[in-house]
Amino acid sequence: MNYQKVLEKTIEMLQKEGRKPTLLLHSCCAPCSSYVLEYLSSFFEITVFYFNPNISPVSEYKMRVEEQKRLIETAFTQYNVTFLEGVYEPVTFYTAVKGLEQEPEGGSRCFVCYEQRLRETARIAKEQGFDYFTTTLSISPLKNAEKLNEIGKRLSEEYEIPYLFSDFKKKNGYKRSIELSKEYDLYRQNFCGCVYSKLEREKEDSYKK
Ligand code: SF4
Repeated sequence: MNYQKVLEKTIEMLQKEGRKPTLLLHSCCAPCSSYVLEYLSSFFEITVFYFNPNISPVSEYKMRVEEQKRLIETAFTQYNVTFLEGVYEPVTFYTAVKGLEQEPEGGSRCFVCYEQRLRETARIAKEQGFDYFTTTLSISPLKNAEKLNEIGKRLSEEYEIPYLFSDFKKKNGYKRSIELSKEYDLYRQNFCGCVYSKLEREKEDSYKK
């Protein structure tokens, strides 16, 4: 399934209808959200939802939140993008991925992590009356877009709120996010977010030395 094409069809339909719906956009970090905001801000009224209990340590979490806010305040003022921070309780992540700690990045631990973040996004979107929900996560070449969209579809049915299908890495989305990160001098972390991905990256780096 080409999820970029599905997204393009949705946008085309909205434009024909002359609608600009509200979108709760889950974001993992400022760099990943940069291209997504640039791409979608003309078509949706966006609220960036920062819900990432997976991120460790706390200092890393705080730094990513601040960068996310700074990006919205500096680059997207003309679009009235708003920001919403979720509850940061790392214990909920550790409980969810119990038994999967040794999985490599991209494995089954990540699928649980995707679902935890998307579930909360769907729940809040439904509770607050948004028209759509989605996530920036598919922009990363290391994330499984097929799985993300499969989870999004399932949660969309469960919470009865439309999920915006996407594969943001398509159409050079990832490349553009790197350019925008440079343009806005954004902090770009070298690991996905959880302590396990941090250790994995440190191990890889030590082999290179
Ligand atoms: S590697 Fe990334 S996606 Fe996978 S569990 Fe860790 S933070 Fe979540």
